[in-house]
Amino acid sequence: MRVRPCLVALASIVSAACGSAPPPPPAAPPSVTAATPVTASAAASAVPAAASAPSAESLVPLPPLPPDVADLQRAVLASRGAVDTVSSLTTEVGARLAGSPADKLAVAWAIHAMEERGLTNVHAEPVKVPTWQRGVETAAIVSPTPHVLAVAALGWSGATPPKGVEAEVVRFDSLDALKNADAKTVTGKIAFIDVKMERTSSGKGYGDAVPARGAGPAEAKKKGALALVIRSIGTDHSRFPHTGSSKQKDAKTALPAAALSVADAELLDREIAAHSKVRLALNLGPKWLPESDSANVVGEVAGSEKPGEVVVLGAHLDSWDLGQGAIDDGAGCGIVLEAGRAIAALGHKPRRTVRVVLFAAEENSLAGGTTYAKTHAADAASIVAALEADSGTDRVLAARYTGAKDARARFAALGPLLAPLGVKVEDSAAFGGADVSPLRGLGVPVIDLEQDFSSYFDTHHTANDTFERVNPEGIQQAAAAFATTAWAVANMDGDFGRVPEAERASRF
Ligand code: ZN
Ligand code: ZN
Repeated sequence: MRVRPCLVALASIVSAACGSAPPPPPAAPPSVTAATPVTASAAASAVPAAASAPSAESLVPLPPLPPDVADLQRAVLASRGAVDTVSSLTTEVGARLAGSPADKLAVAWAIHAMEERGLTNVHAEPVKVPTWQRGVETAAIVSPTPHVLAVAALGWSGATPPKGVEAEVVRFDSLDALKNADAKTVTGKIAFIDVKMERTSSGKGYGDAVPARGAGPAEAKKKGALALVIRSIGTDHSRFPHTGSSKQKDAKTALPAAALSVADAELLDREIAAHSKVRLALNLGPKWLPESDSANVVGEVAGSEKPGEVVVLGAHLDSWDLGQGAIDDGAGCGIVLEAGRAIAALGHKPRRTVRVVLFAAEENSLAGGTTYAKTHAADAASIVAALEADSGTDRVLAARYTGAKDARARFAALGPLLAPLGVKVEDSAAFGGADVSPLRGLGVPVIDLEQDFSSYFDTHHTANDTFERVNPEGIQQAAAAFATTAWAVANMDGDFGRVPEAERASRF
């Protein structure tokens, strides 16, 4: 009889995990049990948000879960730990732009949160963060029909003169259209990039639209524009503008650049379509400040057999300044802290160390992720895999991997462990989140647990990113998927090798 490779690996996970103290008895009525084979559809019902009509495939019985994994999943799915963590962070700290006083408060919050959840070796690793501060921001159509517009400066925007600028608007329906424009048609005007973002569960629409924000200001500057406004990179139709980094690097040359809410961008588009000349007034007063001190905050569950080998679970602690930073990335902090808490509470240690890292300054500069990779370059070989939660509050749909090709079977062995959560292991490549991507550049294997992005970009980077957006079932399912993956990788025989050189380039 042929034995499927994943079951061989699964058996090694069971024997490794059971080699130490026995797991504690179930504390609550199980949603998934180790002793009773379950079907994919029955297991998915443990996560109410996942409930749907069972397919023929979902009625195939799943093999029993290893007891430790069943305990972990049961504990996390029955908990509100991730939800309560986001509640605490958004209430006790709130918006926490890198370099702001709230950023320092967030570091203190994170140290306390890790200690409270049973993590050890809790410490802050210093990070210097470039610092930008929002100021006054107003926009209005002046003529022919006046309207006040909802606007937010993009991160690293330059300032207009104190009284603002007023000029004719020139509209482009893509970044390429601006790039291809004759500079004479743009010089002395306010450029308007009006790219519509597509709603997708994979987040592809964001990748397609976001270059207008990151590269638009520099292009508009090259063409002689006085300022740039963009349609918000978002999938809502509200009056909440979406901020985000404009990737400008120099205060002296930074162009004033801002996002209009989607509803206001559509109003401006209609007015431009109806009249040949539309004049806009824009006043932006952000400040570029000296570099500030921040930190990556680190806590661990130490490994029992190979404590020097590490699985990194990352999220970013900072947020933009407009909302509460609940879905971006309070949710990620909630997910990885809940995974760490559940592993620490399991009653016996993983073979390798599980390390939770809450990174600084992802939003404005990626300073936390790049500093972490530089600081840990010498010990990057000891990091077996890195994962990051930075995709909001909805459930994990798929797992992907990038590491040594000949170690893919070990990743595939996660399939039966994640199946009860409704997570499919896929063949396509993982990229790693923004903060762990510099580790991938050093060869560290990455696993993506891809969450449902369908509604993420409705409130992303807006004043409407508040605790009320948290999906309690989704975020606990995501925490269960991160806990399961970290536990299995920390206990597996063998490792994932290193990412091939050709696959190390960052997409961020
Ligand atoms: Zn984020
Ligand atoms: Zn963000």
